[in-house]
Amino acid sequence: MTTSPAIGHVGAAWRAARSVTPAGLLDAAGCNVPSDRVLDAVIAHLRREREIGGYRAAPDLTGARTDLAALAGAEAGDVAFLESGTEAMAALLGGWRLGPGSRIGCTRAEYGSTFMLLRRLAERRGWRLIELPVDSDGRLDPDGLRARLRSGLDLVVLSHLGSHHGVVQPAEAAGALCRAAGVPFVLDVCQSLGHVEVRGAGASAYVGTSRKWLAGPRGVGFLIVPGLTATMDTPAPTLAGHVWNDPGSPWAEPPESWGAVGDEPRPVPGAARYETSEAAVAARVGLGVAVREHHELGPSVIHDHLAGLGRTARGLLDGAGGWRVAEPLDEPSALVTLKPPPDDTAVRAAARAAEASLLVGVVLVARAPLHLREPVLRVSPPPGTPVETFEALAGVLTSR
Ligand SMILES: *Cc1c(COP(=O)(O)O)cnc(C)c1O
Repeated sequence: MTTSPAIGHVGAAWRAARSVTPAGLLDAAGCNVPSDRVLDAVIAHLRREREIGGYRAAPDLTGARTDLAALAGAEAGDVAFLESGTEAMAALLGGWRLGPGSRIGCTRAEYGSTFMLLRRLAERRGWRLIELPVDSDGRLDPDGLRARLRSGLDLVVLSHLGSHHGVVQPAEAAGALCRAAGVPFVLDVCQSLGHVEVRGAGASAYVGTSRKWLAGPRGVGFLIVPGLTATMDTPAPTLAGHVWNDPGSPWAEPPESWGAVGDEPRPVPGAARYETSEAAVAARVGLGVAVREHHELGPSVIHDHLAGLGRTARGLLDGAGGWRVAEPLDEPSALVTLKPPPDDTAVRAAARAAEASLLVGVVLVARAPLHLREPVLRVSPPPGTPVETFEALAGVLTSR
């Protein structure tokens, strides 16, 4: 296989790992392409479940947990697998025992689904949502966070990278400020894990998903919770995640009344409390393989490669047909968003792109309702995207 200098070692390895890649896929931030090894692992596990029975086939996911946790500087016991980033965030925030009047800090650029959840929890539990200031790019202002922490916050929630713009939030600074103030910090890494460096944020909890930059299968999300405290539980107790009484001493006889069953269900130690026990286990196996491949390629070289792709794409697309890149041109991410000129729209441009076999995303306002003013086009190249693909997209934006 020949290696174009623009693609480089990482891009070539990424492509070599995939016998099929949808040509023109520019939607890694929506749904990326798993490698052949990931696909094979998923299928092999499904076969094994059929051959020996699902329960007997239950895999040891310790290696997958260790590898995933390492991406956030955490440990295997901090990991819980769920079904999506949204589910993981709902389990984390929905179960957090914060009393009425608790003050939750977030920015107006927060992800739409997290906003919905926070609004609902605030309304039902009497929490107060405190706006954390951002600059004109939607980037958290650390001085503003410091001031808000001084006037009192009980929790801070931040998306490291949004779904609707390519701005990398100052997670490390935010984490340091929260730690110094003793305030738990939740970092949504759905768009950043596998894409930009996450270690160093020192968050209490990370919320992530498989199918985007980690290029795992769909249907898996996760929590990484190095900072678990006694106030953190799930919204509903479950048999796999909670115990009544001492799990080591099952009752010899069924108790006579409901009252005798014991105390409130207590969560099991560690992040296991959050994990859903019935699941598409094959997809979790596949995510484990995807994360292993990520380590083999090297997280930091992937980060650099993706930042380079983002810069290349922004340079080629900014101004094409009057479209303007929304975030700074040199933002170190491969999530590129474009604002339409007056005579075009994101929906129309995405349809034209599809005719040219280019798959781009359309980000509707609901994705970041307090920040996005109009739908934008999102271009999120996976590693190995050749420069010709961006040139073809520039042509699509120009011709209408
Ligand atoms: C995609 C995304 C989520 C939700 O993840 P799902 O797996 O789609 O539920 C949360 N936050 C951000 C910033 C995202 O981009």
